[in-house]
Amino acid sequence: MGRHIYVHNPFCVRKCPYCDFYSITDRSCAEAYYDAAVKEARFWADFDKKHGSSGDNGPDTVYFGGGTPSCVPEELVCGLLEEITASFGIGSDAEITLEVNPASFSKEKGKKYLSSGFNRLSMGIQSLNDGVLKTLGRLHDSKGAIKALNEAFEAGFANISVDFITGVPGQDMEMILEGLKTVIDMGVKHVSTYSLSIEENTPFYDLYKDSIEDLLTPETERGMYHMVRRFLRANGIIPYEISNSSIPGFESRHNTAYWDGADYYAVGAGAHGYLNSVRFGHEDNVESYIKCACAIKENDILKLLGYANATPDSIEGFLYCEERLTLEDKMREYPFLKLRTSKGIDTAEFYSRYGKRFEEVYKNVLESNTGKGLLAVEGQRIFLTSKGLDLANLVMEDFL
Ligand code: SF4
Repeated sequence: MGRHIYVHNPFCVRKCPYCDFYSITDRSCAEAYYDAAVKEARFWADFDKKHGSSGDNGPDTVYFGGGTPSCVPEELVCGLLEEITASFGIGSDAEITLEVNPASFSKEKGKKYLSSGFNRLSMGIQSLNDGVLKTLGRLHDSKGAIKALNEAFEAGFANISVDFITGVPGQDMEMILEGLKTVIDMGVKHVSTYSLSIEENTPFYDLYKDSIEDLLTPETERGMYHMVRRFLRANGIIPYEISNSSIPGFESRHNTAYWDGADYYAVGAGAHGYLNSVRFGHEDNVESYIKCACAIKENDILKLLGYANATPDSIEGFLYCEERLTLEDKMREYPFLKLRTSKGIDTAEFYSRYGKRFEEVYKNVLESNTGKGLLAVEGQRIFLTSKGLDLANLVMEDFL
């Protein structure tokens, strides 16, 4: 299954009113943070040499997410990637993605990112309608987004993904499709579309918690979802997961690894990883991250990840264990992760991983969901139907 690296940049220029990700706007410690991240990356590279799952070309994908990685000096981001590439021995065919914000991207930065090794950009465009962008509190307008996207191509990036948000108050279908058409015509290879969700502890929650269903009924939201997928498909961008679509061959290898249950290292405050069947996370605290990443004790990590006898639940201020998965847990999780994808469950793969027949282990759940028209079976594939996509969470929970 290979292994992968996720790097978290916790800095943003301004907090968007709907966002509940961990990010901070004070960038004064960015340099110290990236220095600490270099130290953590070196630690994991050393760890990878001792415990990596296959002594091959190193991790298959690297993903710098955030936050807004493009809002800190590019030297920091490029320096960290170069360190990761050298210390892990990342192969030339690895997929290396950087999330960027149109408001803090330029052609010059793009060229530097490209020459340091990034070969894929994920740009948070969200919409190409100025009213919607204003509602979302984004820093860019539609002109700025188109300029940034053009500059990304001019800088030499051929593999570009864009994020769009649907279900924004005041947004209609025409606005969404017009925006998608523009970016497809410009040559993007991958589109991620997310329905706006109103999260607690955000300004949007106070604004919309009581009215969101009046502004957008669940039926309208579902109608939008399916129309977007049909539109993308008709334009050659094929849905391959609940929220992701691409030109065939340009699916995100990094995200596909998550749905495949692969191992991944995590670097940075707020970053989450999965190693040795342990799901772990970094504390959402830049200050303590800087302190702790500069003084990692290998033994503590080995214990937390279950390589040594004691299995403490946390390393104070740095890492904590979210879950230790047994074989049974993984077997239960398999359909949960795989049903997100259009390929769905592969019963032969399930058998080779767990030595059990999927149809026997999940006989009742399978019968009940196929009976309701929510799941379809085609040879060794089991996947969500169009109706099943609308009730994906319920179907997946059925397997847990
Ligand atoms: S730019 Fe992204 S991570 Fe930063 S506040 Fe906005 S939505 Fe959140």
